Amino acid sequence: MCGIVGYTGPRQASRILVEGLKRLEYRGYDSAGIAVQADEPQTGAPLVVIKKKGKIAALRQEVPKDLPGHCGIGHTRWATHGGVSDVNAHPHTDNSGKLAVVHNGIIENYLSLKEMLEKEGAVFRSETDSEAIAHLIAYNYEGDLEAALKASLGHLKGTYGIACVHADEPGRIVGARNGSPLVLGVGDGEMLLASDVTAMLAHTKRVVYLNDGEVVSMLPHEFRVSDAEDRPIDPRIDHVAWELDAIEKEGFSCYMEKEIFEQPESIARALSGRLDGEYGCAKLGGLNLSKKELHAVERIRVIAAGTSWHAGLVGCHLFETVARIPAAAELASELRYRNPVVEPSSLYFAVSQSGETADTLYAMREIQRRGGTVLGICNVVGSTIPRESDGGVYVHSGPEIAVASTKAFTSQLAAFYLLALSFARMHDMPHHEGTRYLEQLKAVPGLVRDTLGQRDHVQAIAKRYSKAQDFLFLGRGLLYPIALEGALKLKEISYVHAEGYAAGEIKHGPIALVSPDTPSVFLVPNDHLREKTISNMKEIKARGGPVIAVAEQGDAEVMAIADEYIPIPAVDSRFQPFLMVVPLQLLAYFIALELARDVDQPRNLAKSVTVE
Ligand code: GLU
Repeated sequence: MCGIVGYTGPRQASRILVEGLKRLEYRGYDSAGIAVQADEPQTGAPLVVIKKKGKIAALRQEVPKDLPGHCGIGHTRWATHGGVSDVNAHPHTDNSGKLAVVHNGIIENYLSLKEMLEKEGAVFRSETDSEAIAHLIAYNYEGDLEAALKASLGHLKGTYGIACVHADEPGRIVGARNGSPLVLGVGDGEMLLASDVTAMLAHTKRVVYLNDGEVVSMLPHEFRVSDAEDRPIDPRIDHVAWELDAIEKEGFSCYMEKEIFEQPESIARALSGRLDGEYGCAKLGGLNLSKKELHAVERIRVIAAGTSWHAGLVGCHLFETVARIPAAAELASELRYRNPVVEPSSLYFAVSQSGETADTLYAMREIQRRGGTVLGICNVVGSTIPRESDGGVYVHSGPEIAVASTKAFTSQLAAFYLLALSFARMHDMPHHEGTRYLEQLKAVPGLVRDTLGQRDHVQAIAKRYSKAQDFLFLGRGLLYPIALEGALKLKEISYVHAEGYAAGEIKHGPIALVSPDTPSVFLVPNDHLREKTISNMKEIKARGGPVIAVAEQGDAEVMAIADEYIPIPAVDSRFQPFLMVVPLQLLAYFIALELARDVDQPRNLAKSVTVE
């Protein structure tokens, strides 16, 4: 949530900052700003601060093309404290205007800090919690920004990624993190600092991921990482594998469309090198658990939020039905505060696209504190959950920029299918069944490509139903989480009310919502649950509700009942979640287009939810 970027080096800072913010816009986009050190401070204002409510495009308009200055910081905001306005946008400055700060996170004790600092003469201009950081560092400032920041950190309660500059220290940027991500980019005679690597990919691929409690001080040619007590930390320089074109739209109208259509490749990447044909098994290198330890697992628990939780629900269904291990998926935000029982024989999975989701990260730490083993299932390499977990699986979907997750979801599914196979082969599943399962999994990317062929058909349906105010999404078994995911997608990007339900549950309440104006999207499996689902469909039809059915191609019975029918290729029901979710992503996408929504950056949302 929110994006931070900093640049120091020989080039025009404002350009690199605005361009970096544009890359980070998906993290938060209600307002933005930059602060640049003037090259000759004695001739004008010590820092040039430009802030603007709205998207980065609005900020770009305000920034003079030839703004001089080679060092600065920038921020794109997702407001937590204080409304969305120019003055509440970051950076925030101290009384002197010489010190500027950008902040990601929440300072919980900002009111008491504000009270103390106002007594010392600080004049607050915004309603944000973040401004207190600027005045606090200024209060501790005695000519050394790094020392002043370190002296301030102990007084901050809450979460932060911080970057700051001071007019009296040309070329220096100082940053610190606790709970919000911060990455240092090591360039050739220049340094960058950002919330994630997408902001710096155009400039460098050499990065240092900061850990909680670390402080970085950087100049164009050098940087130093230390802790708050000034003990030096040996930084590890990582190489980012993502290519720049992976974060371009490549001819698609928006990132979400691009990411939906990328799924055949992204699922194939998640599976690549992990299919062991000889043993009918999966090869997952990063679990860091011996075969004995894995074999001793008696229960599996998945913790996650949003779309990742839906992937976890599918995963748990597989763990139980395929591997016969009791499993349950729980919302991370709920688990953390309910004093959970952590059994030593349970294995936990923390699922998060960004690897930074605050709810999931804190729940993971709570479980680890109680002795539990947690494996991460994440996309962003080097992010916090993979670094702090006991092992895990990267899903390798490539950068996901659209706020509404699509390709990361199907890659998370792929990871769960591999894990379920691993556990199954350790227990009851014979070799030949494992081989068959692998063959079916291998076919998934191609079948997803075939399903994407329904694009125009789904678009036509979306046009017909785009005026509906409410939708129901209904599925059973493995398709129940997919129904939840379909409803979430529609809510997120079109702002149309949608409920996902287990199809068998509708008669226990939601059927009261059914009317000619409320379409129900049914996911019809091709297994023992098919007849039951069709009965539920008939219950809706009997009450005048329109039905959009997603079902296997050539299903004449479904075709006859449903008002709209979206065929998917024939596949073993176990693998239908991959195919069923695709039309739902497309439906949400095209309805959002019909309603002229901002698909990539829906209102009120942000990618990478780094606050609780
Ligand atoms: N809490 C700060 C604010 O509301 C920072 C929010 C963010 O992370 O964007 O301004």
